[in-house]
Parts: sequence; structure tokens; C-alpha cells
Amino acid sequence: MNTPSHGSKVARKDIPAAFQWKIQDIYATQEEWEKACTALKKLIAELETCKGSLKDASILLQALQLRDRMSQEIDKIYAYARLQQDADNGDVNAQALSGKAEGILAAFYNAVSFIDSEVTSLPKEQLEQLKNDPLFSDYSFYLEDLERMREHVLPGEQEAILAQSQLATGTGALAFRALVSADMEFPVIKDRNGNDAIVSEGCYMLNMSSDDRVLRKNSFFGLMNTYHHYRNTLAATLTGTCRSRYFYARVRGYQNSMEASLAEENIPVSLYNGLIQTIHAHLKPLHEYITLKKETLGYDEFHPYDLYVPLSQEGEKSFSCTFAEACETVKNALQPLGQAYIEALQKGMTEGWIDIYENKGKRSGAYSWGVYGVHPYVLLNFQPRYNSISTLAHELGHSLHSYFSSQAQPYAKSDYSIFCAEVASTTNENLLLEYALARADKTQKIFLLNQFLEAVRTTVYRQVQFAEFEKFIHDKITMGESLQAEELGKYWLESNRTYYGPGLTIDKELGSEWSRIPHFHTPFYVYKYATGYSAATAFSEAILNESADKHQTVPPSNAGSGNPLNPCQSASAVEKYLKFLHAGGSDYSLNLLKEAGVNLNSPQPVQVTLEKFARKLKELKELL
Ligand SMILES: [Zn+2]
Repeated sequence: MNTPSHGSKVARKDIPAAFQWKIQDIYATQEEWEKACTALKKLIAELETCKGSLKDASILLQALQLRDRMSQEIDKIYAYARLQQDADNGDVNAQALSGKAEGILAAFYNAVSFIDSEVTSLPKEQLEQLKNDPLFSDYSFYLEDLERMREHVLPGEQEAILAQSQLATGTGALAFRALVSADMEFPVIKDRNGNDAIVSEGCYMLNMSSDDRVLRKNSFFGLMNTYHHYRNTLAATLTGTCRSRYFYARVRGYQNSMEASLAEENIPVSLYNGLIQTIHAHLKPLHEYITLKKETLGYDEFHPYDLYVPLSQEGEKSFSCTFAEACETVKNALQPLGQAYIEALQKGMTEGWIDIYENKGKRSGAYSWGVYGVHPYVLLNFQPRYNSISTLAHELGHSLHSYFSSQAQPYAKSDYSIFCAEVASTTNENLLLEYALARADKTQKIFLLNQFLEAVRTTVYRQVQFAEFEKFIHDKITMGESLQAEELGKYWLESNRTYYGPGLTIDKELGSEWSRIPHFHTPFYVYKYATGYSAATAFSEAILNESADKHQTVPPSNAGSGNPLNPCQSASAVEKYLKFLHAGGSDYSLNLLKEAGVNLNSPQPVQVTLEKFARKLKELKELL
């Protein structure tokens, strides 16, 4: 297939259907979609009749099954509308469908909200009994999780008050967003040719990776000084967010916000603290990386605005390829995952899952969207460069996770957690990187190693640095203090000194950076980037080691007892990984990962990642 003409000026209707995802796999026609919407409204009314009667096991089962049926349908209704809107924001029909779907979704949430609270108030013995009842096997994990959280649920009237309070307590985050995205004005700056350039949150990262150092420097100062101007307001909005989280934590009987936030996914506080400790024990390679960048770029001083500049602008161009070639590369790179994986991958690449090219009005970036009972959908804006190949591998990693889990699990257990979400995607990225590295020339190798090191720097080191900052600010809130801009700025500078080491010249303006991180308004979220990436690295390393071992001739004496690769003794790394992909959301994330051989309660997966960072850094040093 030849590449069709595409891009921001090409209308959606001019992109041939063969390059678009098949929306009709969800509903054959819009008429079918309308019918589904009408049918769903009837089901909402039917569910109403179960209200107040869930003590009766048969009515409870009926209600849970009805909720699943509705939820599965609403997933389809919503996806049908939103996928079309994402493909072309200017499509008026798609906008109308999305509006209607949002309304139905809100009605659905409202209609099912009584189920959780009624189940939670069932006697402990009855819950226990239901959990072990084969009729409720689809809901065993759901019931177990409700039971676990039960002591943190308040009596009905108090819960109702808490629900109402949420509109008021979210003001910190709302005010932050309004200030940053609407009221804040960023200056016009100059690039190296003296031309005017724009700095804003929208283009900041693009400017930071430019080879124009003047543009980078002016962007950095322009952005940081703007935030500095609003520092007291920004500290106050963050105080608001943290205090509100603390309020809900305390009224629900938790010691503090960290404990409450981690409990949502049953993650122990020791994992969070251990993660920070492990990173601190491995800061030396990061210091060395910064020094290497400084020396390679030939700068006397290496500033925060130099952190994102690639070491080689050359390497990436040589990966230019068509979409069909990118698919071949990804398939070859993922061969170690075995035939079943490759077959599913092939299905995804050829059966209308992917919307490949950019067109006018299409959403930027990329994502994978699993639709249970149909198939996953992948939005791409494919460009002929390495990052697009890597994105293809990444998004299809999500897709196959959704695909396998929806095949193996009932609807109620199919949805994987946020904690596990980036594992399947990053494992693919890592396998692709190793495949490309093994075939690369020197320039390409420099590019690829730099890609990997930057990924670990920004996804593991930097996110744990953020996680540590969150611990600091929430501890202050626990002690009854408020957050002061000046103190946060000082802490931030010190933290950067610790993480990046003596190679980085710290401009005092960097002390405003904490105030621009939107994730701080979603407390205790960012550490999941680091754990997800580390789990993926541990998986890909185990899979590649195993595949390398298989290709060596193993003397018979080695194949006896104790050989971890002997299938009679234990499952192989690939088998365990595939089992994890099929497990979806059937258990707690940490259990699923541990079962598959990655124990995040131990420092091992993070250590494996940071040791790989040090190894790749050494390889890069030798090439430069
Ligand atoms: Zn992802």
C-alpha cells in the first residue's frame, strides 16, 4: 500500500478508508448506535427496580450483571462517538454524538452508584460467602476489594455529605488550571537569529529540544519568570489541593494523604519509600550522564535548558520508513514474545484497528483505546521517523494487553489498572530498542542510546524526584503547615542539585519549576510512571535473556533440575509475561506482576532498570 497524501491540510474524507480505523466494527450504522442509546436508557430504568434490595443474593447478582451489560454497551456508545470526534474535531455530527454519549454516561454513573454502597453495607459474613460462591465468580475480585476498603467507607449520610463537598474542595486544582491555561501571559522571546518566537506550555518542550541554544535559554527564562511572578498564588492553589486530599484521608480513617492515595490500588507505603531509597542509591550514573552530555555538547556550563537537547540530531533521520516498513520492524522486534503475540499483532495491523495518518482536525499524539467485545483502536499521527515506529510498538502494546485480557477475562475483570497500564507498552518499546540497537550503525546507536537514557531520566529519575517532592509537601500539610513559595523553591533547587550532581549549573530560576507541574494536583500519581517503566524493563530483560539463552546450544547436563528455563520446572519468562497480559484486572496489580516474576515490593526491578541505565551509558561513552 502506498502512502496516501495526508497532513494537517488534508480533509478526513480524502484519506482512503484502508488507512482509517473501522468504526463500523462497533456499530454498523449510526442508526444502530441510536438504537443502542435508547435500549440503554431502558436498562437504567430496569436497574432502578433493584435499588434497596441487594441484600437478596439473586437480586444482587442480577444487578451486577445488568451493570456489566450496561457498562459494556456504554463503552461502545462512548467510543463510537469519541473516536470519530478525535479523528476530526471539526465533524459536527461527531460532536453531537459525543455530547449525547457524555449525557448517557453521566446518567449511567448516577444510576449505578447505589450498588457499591449497598454491597459495602452487607454483613461481613455475607460478603465472605458471596466471594466464594461460584455464581459470583466474575465478581470475586470486586467483592474482595470492596471488603478491603470497607473500614474507610462512612455511614450513608456522611458519604452523601462527602460527595457534595467534592465540588468545593477541587478549587485548588481548578484555580491552578485557570491561571496557567487562561490568565497567565507568556512573553515573546527571540531565537538565535533575532526572530520573535513563542514560549508557552504548549511549545515549551519542543523549544527545549531545539538545537538553537538561544531559543532554549530564552524559553527557559521566559517561562520560569512568568511562573515566578505568580508564585504565591501557585503555592496557595497547591496548598488547597493537598489540604483537600488530607481532609478526605483523615475523615476516612487514614493516617495521611499518601496512605489514602496508595490504598486505592492496594500499594503499601513501604513501596513508595523504597522506590525513593533505591533511586538515591543509584544517582551516580545520572551525574555521569549529565557530565557526559556537557562534555559531548562542548559547553563550559551545562544549564537546565540544555537537559533535553539530543546528543545527535543525525541518527533519527536514518530510520525514515513507510508505515508498512514500520509494521515489519515492530513485528520482527517483538518476535521474542512468540507466535501467538505476533499473530494478534498482525491482526491489529491489518484489520482496521489503526487510524494511521494525520488529517485536518485530527487529535494530535497517539493512544490505544480498548473496546471490550469489539477490538482495540489505535490513534496515530504516523511520521517517517524512529519515534513513530516506537509509538506504534508502544500503542500496540496497550492494544494487545486489552485484546488478550478481554479474550481471557469476563468484563468485570478485564480492565487493567493504571498502575499496570504502561507495562505492556514500555516492554514493547524496550524490545524494539534492543532490536534496533543490534542492527544500528554508529550514528544510529548514539541516537538510540540517547533515547533510552532520556527515557529513564525523564520517566524514572525525574518522576521519583517529583514523588519525593510530593512526600515533602504532603508531610508539611500533615503537620498543619501551609506551603510557602520560597521554601518550595529552595527545596526544588536542592533536590535538583542532589539528582543531577555537579555537572548541572543550577540557575536560580529553576526554583519555580515545581509550580508548573500539573500532576501535583493529582497527588501520588507520578511514582507509577517509574514503577511501570521499571516493571517493563525487568520483563524485557528477562525475555531477551531467555531468548538469547535459547539460541545457544545448551549441553544436556544443564537441562536437568534447577534450570529455570525447563518448562517442566517452571513457566518461561515469556509465558509468565503473556499470562500477565491475559490477567487484565483480575487481581491487585502487585500480585499480577509478582506472579509474572516482577516483585515491585523488592528493589530488584528498579535496580535492573538503573543498572541497565549505567550499562547503556558506558556503551554510549565508548562510542563518543
Ligand atoms: Zn502509553
